[in-house]
Amino acid sequence: MQQQSRSDDTCSAAIIGGAVSGLAAATNIHALPQFSDVVVFERQQYDDKRVNCGEAINDTTLVPLEKTPENGFVNDIDGFELRVYDGQDHDPHEQPVGVSRLQCEPGYICERNVVEKRWADKLAAEGVEFRTGASISPSKYDQILETYDYIIDASGQPSLTLKAKQETTNYTGDMVALNATVSGDFSSYTERPRIFFEGYVGYSWSFPKSETQANVGMGWAGDERPENYYEAFKTTAQRNGFSVPERDQTNIYTIPRGPSLSPEQTYYPENNVFLVGDAAGIANRYQGEGICQGIRSANLLGELIATEQEHRYPEKLYNMMKSEYRLAHLMRGAWVEHEDSALLAAVAESIEGLSIEDITRRPSQVLSRLLRRPITAAKLISDVGMLTRVYESYTDSWEFGANEA
Ligand SMILES: Cc1cc2nc3c(=O)[nH]c(=O)nc-3n(C[C@H](O)[C@H](O)[C@H](O)COP(=O)(O)OP(=O)(O)OC[C@H]3O[C@@H](n4cnc5c(N)ncnc54)[C@H](O)[C@@H]3O)c2cc1C
Repeated sequence: MQQQSRSDDTCSAAIIGGAVSGLAAATNIHALPQFSDVVVFERQQYDDKRVNCGEAINDTTLVPLEKTPENGFVNDIDGFELRVYDGQDHDPHEQPVGVSRLQCEPGYICERNVVEKRWADKLAAEGVEFRTGASISPSKYDQILETYDYIIDASGQPSLTLKAKQETTNYTGDMVALNATVSGDFSSYTERPRIFFEGYVGYSWSFPKSETQANVGMGWAGDERPENYYEAFKTTAQRNGFSVPERDQTNIYTIPRGPSLSPEQTYYPENNVFLVGDAAGIANRYQGEGICQGIRSANLLGELIATEQEHRYPEKLYNMMKSEYRLAHLMRGAWVEHEDSALLAAVAESIEGLSIEDITRRPSQVLSRLLRRPITAAKLISDVGMLTRVYESYTDSWEFGANEA
């Protein structure tokens, strides 16, 4: 551990990246009495436009702010509606081949920029120092390693730590996504945002922030990609009845697909560096969700530092994420190995009424629902690729290969 900024009984922490994971890390660490100095380094300004993701926070109890519109919690949703179509040549009035309604009682569609700004303001008022508006370069990173006792890398994907080590190829992000905020009439489904599956490996979404505004987007995984991403986004908007975003208001990103880092790459004991959130490669590999995952990883790290067990972070993080990795690997198989809309519709209908928490983190809930539909379950596993995924999931054989049974 680095000692330079330490007095005899207090510690300092540098948090690189001040989005959800970094803010959660700052919240946890600042609450520990031994930390006298907690600094968040964020390359953007909180008043500027920052990251624009789908803005669905599925468990808002993890964010220590009152759930008010002033704090960015603009639409208190009941859950999500999954709509499965047989391909991409339907019109907005055509009925999907399968519909499933999932519960998400603690969920909101947010103004994420506002949530992060208010969270940072709260921490600043409590004594956390923010240094914003300058990107940490690799040489500045080395200086930070020398200066602070604890370094929490929350810089997203790929992390600054792996950039500094020139190991960014260890991430295997493969989903390209476009999104934008649009105006329109969303009154018929404001409380239940929609996700559309249309026969390609990917999906589009329309997440209302109000009756007249929504975050809309489209993402692709797998090998088949459109020739023109924006045109594909435009036509899914037309097919699914949400407004077509202007090209210059459309963002394009790569969504990480965790688990893409070995647990060993989430902690570097020689410099006391810990990776949280997207930096640690833990976003859900099936649907791309990463906000709650990032906050949970920072909360876990805070608990471990509080009990002086931080050396166990990689193992504990892996154990916390394992059921989610497993379920995502299997759910992605239902999608990728079969490419069969009727089967996907049957799977979607079998999970009707479950919560997002169930379908993200509780494989036994999903499996028990599938077993109530033996024909669907039999079709699902009647495929070598799917059987391989079942084997991999239950022997912890992930792509980084560090946890094979
Ligand atoms: C199109 C799209 C839609 C998505 N929709 C959803 C959704 O609806 N719900 C959900 O839960 N997840 C969603 N995700 C995933 C989610 O956005 C990420 O998992 C989440 O943002 C991870 O948060 P983080 O704090 O770990 O990293 P990030 O959000 O990537 O934040 C990293 C922070 O570090 C800062 N930073 C980076 N490098 C430096 C540097 N060198 N110096 C200083 N600061 C630096 C950045 O400015 C940024 O603020 C979506 C992702 C995409 C791409």
